[in-house]
Amino acid sequence: MNTKQKKGLLLVISGPSGTGKGSMCQKLLQDDSVKYSISATTRSPRGQEQNGREYFFLTKEEFEQRIKNNGFLEWAQVYDRYYGTPRDFVEETLESGCDCILEIDVQGALKVKEAMPEAVLIFILPPSLKELHRRIKERATESEEQIQMRMSWVLGEIDQIAKYDYAVINDCLDEAVEEVRRIRHSEKCRVSRLGDLTKIYHDEDERGF
Ligand code: ADP
Ligand code: 5GP
Repeated sequence: MNTKQKKGLLLVISGPSGTGKGSMCQKLLQDDSVKYSISATTRSPRGQEQNGREYFFLTKEEFEQRIKNNGFLEWAQVYDRYYGTPRDFVEETLESGCDCILEIDVQGALKVKEAMPEAVLIFILPPSLKELHRRIKERATESEEQIQMRMSWVLGEIDQIAKYDYAVINDCLDEAVEEVRRIRHSEKCRVSRLGDLTKIYHDEDERGF
């Protein structure tokens, strides 16, 4: 009996900068049946980041051309740069039956939900604003000015949480990752994702059992 869903699940991991989305995704990707969508951005690489690994680093002109060519599933201006999800990779991954993870900001997540209502939006919350600030500072990848800009966006982002399907507080990293795994597995059992289950049993009944 083939009750397996054909298309993969689109999981959107989203929330303010520094909540631990990237750390969580690294662990979620240890599971072979899930693929990570590498975003495009116009910001400069930081630290050890490599083109095509963390991001596709594009110029503003290249990014705008790709918007015109409908090359993004979603894109947004986050802080003072462009970020976008390449459309083809996501569509091909889902069609192949593999699950796909997007790690994107709140504006982008809401655009994905509009375009693909079957996407599962998970908001990653910090235990507190103080801890969030501590984590961004400790990561030491942004200037003080950048940190202030990112912190000034946080409440506006959290105010959008009602539009999400799930919220997970990233206090203990391993527990938060486990919660996302449980959400993923529960979502795969949703009746609406399983196709026409009744037909399978009716067909079997007609054939005789
Ligand atoms: P984001 O991708 O949401 O911007 P990161 O994954 O880069 O966030 O995490 C920001 C910083 O917080 C990193 O230095 C990371 O190691 C740290 N971090 C992530 N999750 C936790 C956690 N549960 N407890 C403590 N520190 C964490
Ligand atoms: P960073 O500069 O720290 O890598 O990312 C800044 C913010 O942009 C993070 O909240 C991150 O999740 C978000 N982001 C990364 N890729 C995308 C994307 O493709 N689309 C959108 N909308 N946001 C993204």
